[in-house]
Amino acid sequence: MSNDKVLQPMAGMTLEDMQDAVTALGMPRFVAKQLAQWIYQKRVNDFEQMLNISKANRELLASRYCVGLYPPSQAAASEDGTVKYLFDVGDKQAVEAVYIPEDDRATLCISSQKGCRMNCYFCMTGKQGFHGNLTANQIINQVLSIPESETLTNVVFMGMGEPLDNIDEVLRIIAILTEPWGLAWSPKRVTVSTVGKKPELKILCEQTNVHIAVSVHNAVQEERSSMMPIERLYPIDQIMELLSNYDFAHQRRLSVEYICWQWFNDDIQHAEKLRELLPNEHVRVNLIRFHPIPGIEKLRTSSDERMAYFRDYLNSKGVTCTIRRSRGEDIQAACGMLAGQVRKQQAAKETKDSKNADKKTRNSRSKK
Ligand code: SF4
Repeated sequence: MSNDKVLQPMAGMTLEDMQDAVTALGMPRFVAKQLAQWIYQKRVNDFEQMLNISKANRELLASRYCVGLYPPSQAAASEDGTVKYLFDVGDKQAVEAVYIPEDDRATLCISSQKGCRMNCYFCMTGKQGFHGNLTANQIINQVLSIPESETLTNVVFMGMGEPLDNIDEVLRIIAILTEPWGLAWSPKRVTVSTVGKKPELKILCEQTNVHIAVSVHNAVQEERSSMMPIERLYPIDQIMELLSNYDFAHQRRLSVEYICWQWFNDDIQHAEKLRELLPNEHVRVNLIRFHPIPGIEKLRTSSDERMAYFRDYLNSKGVTCTIRRSRGEDIQAACGMLAGQVRKQQAAKETKDSKNADKKTRNSRSKK
């Protein structure tokens, strides 16, 4: 039996979690605040460097815990400055975080799950199945461990997974990003994107002030449910009705994400259906270019002209609608593509290794 102790990571804990941890070790509660400052504000990854904590307490902490920050395993940089990072998250799985610099902003798009169980037809991550939730440690590590971490202005939960399917850990991360003991960001710097898990969306609306983005992609119910199974459980009109109860006219923003597919959802009838769905004039619509993924050739990217026509129609009806700039086209920009490719390579390597091992065994048997 191995004597190696599994050290629990502290990055990803809230102040309350840390208070529980230090008092359980017989330390005063204020040590938790010192730990939070060292980890979230000074980005220190070793208890030994936390010099305002006594040596005895540092050693005691190190016997049970680690800080738990670790670097990405791979990075792919685009010509436009976008960088896609890959993080190993155990069970032979990897997740993506995408750094997107733009004028005076630097946004990180982070993942919340290993794969996803929402099974949206057009999504590479959905095609890879669900392999579990990320822990708060694995989520905050994406923010704190990329080389550009200190320059980030915004975080968006738009990477792999449905954030509201992992609500407890996502709420922890929002607290770490926005509370004074954490990164102390304004909630305006954080956006959670969802396909519309209604009960958890209500919790998010009531317990936080972060921006919300809803992936609509089609306002016609039968068409949306053919692409997004969640529609059968929580129809999008019910989601919009729920959201109409909250204030998105001031500090907090509600936006709608809409991927445009040529001849499928990009005509004026669909634009009008979308307009009818919006609860009020404060909702912004982001039109998104589709990044084709292998295996679903029947969905085609809308032309620039058709997207502009769709946008102009909504603008003419008083809806703020913009076309999102495509980023990182040269680095497999569709969510989950890089992680999927790495998984395939790993699987191919394992098959090759096991074939070689079989061959060796057969050879050694035949020699005997
Ligand atoms: S689009 Fe989002 S919710 Fe749908 S399968 Fe992909 S990651 Fe999951």
